[in-house]
Amino acid sequence: MALDRETLDLTLEAIRDFAKDKLPEATILDLDARDEFPVELVRAMCGAELGVQLLFFGEEYGGMGGGSLDVYRVCETLARCDLGVATGVFATFLGSDPIVFGGTPEQKKRWLTRLAEEGLLMAYGATEPEAGSDLGALRTTATRIEEDGRVVGYRISGNKQWISNGGFADLYSVLALAPGGPSWFVVERGAPGLSWGKPEDKHGIRLSNTSEVSLADVRVDADALVGGVEGQGLLQAQMVFGYTRLMVAAFGLGAGWAALDRAIPYSAERIQGGGPLSEKQGYTHKLIVPWAARLEAGRSLIEETAERLDAEEGTLNTEGAVAKYLATEAGNGAADAAIQALGGYGFTR
Ligand SMILES: Cc1cc2nc3c(=O)[nH]c(=O)nc-3n(C[C@H](O)[C@H](O)[C@H](O)COP(=O)(O)OP(=O)(O)OC[C@H]3O[C@@H](n4cnc5c(N)ncnc54)[C@H](O)[C@@H]3O)c2cc1C
Repeated sequence: MALDRETLDLTLEAIRDFAKDKLPEATILDLDARDEFPVELVRAMCGAELGVQLLFFGEEYGGMGGGSLDVYRVCETLARCDLGVATGVFATFLGSDPIVFGGTPEQKKRWLTRLAEEGLLMAYGATEPEAGSDLGALRTTATRIEEDGRVVGYRISGNKQWISNGGFADLYSVLALAPGGPSWFVVERGAPGLSWGKPEDKHGIRLSNTSEVSLADVRVDADALVGGVEGQGLLQAQMVFGYTRLMVAAFGLGAGWAALDRAIPYSAERIQGGGPLSEKQGYTHKLIVPWAARLEAGRSLIEETAERLDAEEGTLNTEGAVAKYLATEAGNGAADAAIQALGGYGFTR
């Protein structure tokens, strides 16, 4: 699966134009100060107006069938506009992954077609208060509902923590412990017993919504069990780690460049010591150049891993982790350097 070069370029240009129009710097700063998730904007991006989510699904479900390379470029471009908004879009992508990789043909047709056509928002409900890095410790349970010896549904109970789009999603993929082991279920917004907490007050990516999601005896039909077989949940989650780590790597890359996008023009305008800071190597070779180089080194690894994923060389979980580590470290470093590059003006909001 891959887009042709022209379609990819047009998609990236459409995202940049949309952000320039709807998400100028002043709007980002205002939303950040108010800690507000611009849900209508994210819905417009995922809906008919921009249709970003189409990239993530195959053509048979009404999508565009983008490959890893396409998805990395889109994630980078979104993150370069704003990391919070990018997270809102990415959460749908992440939430649909269990269905894309583990769903039955009927489930894919049912849910992915709706995601493509209706631009629904999704949330990925894996983490719990006591199960973060160690998902095997999950406590959310899915109890079978049986009629005449046949499983007709499940009752899901438990708490999910740190869920992106948690308060706004139309559909939730929820990891729960069924009698046969950890399993993914698809839960619709509005299901009795499903609720969410207040948005977390985060240090960063404040234009994204992160909240607790609670399930109190939420009833789902048997066909909400992703793949139709219990106990596949952790395997299904692991199948996409290489891929999703690459997307987070692309977030580091895009966010790091967004920081340098601010520092570089500033350095050309700011006159200190008789000339622009951009002409002083003590400044550029500490605060700009090394970070641009590290970001681009991260990009090389992302691209190599994406190309290998598209060539179906395997799940590449380790390669995805290395790319994520290098690119997000470079992104963090670039953001810190950009704060220094703006002097006192970098320290204020
Ligand atoms: C903004 C945001 C959005 C998120 N969105 C989602 C989402 O949409 N869906 C979702 O399911 N989750 C989401 N998460 C949760 C995220 O995946 C978890 O925070 C992450 O898995 C870590 O879990 P934890 O926070 O419980 O930390 P812990 O697992 O408690 O870890 C605490 C610290 O200990 C370290 N650590 C943990 N285990 C070990 C070990 N064995 N050896 C050494 N060090 C260790 C960790 O690296 C970390 O530094 C989100 C989190 C944030 C902050």
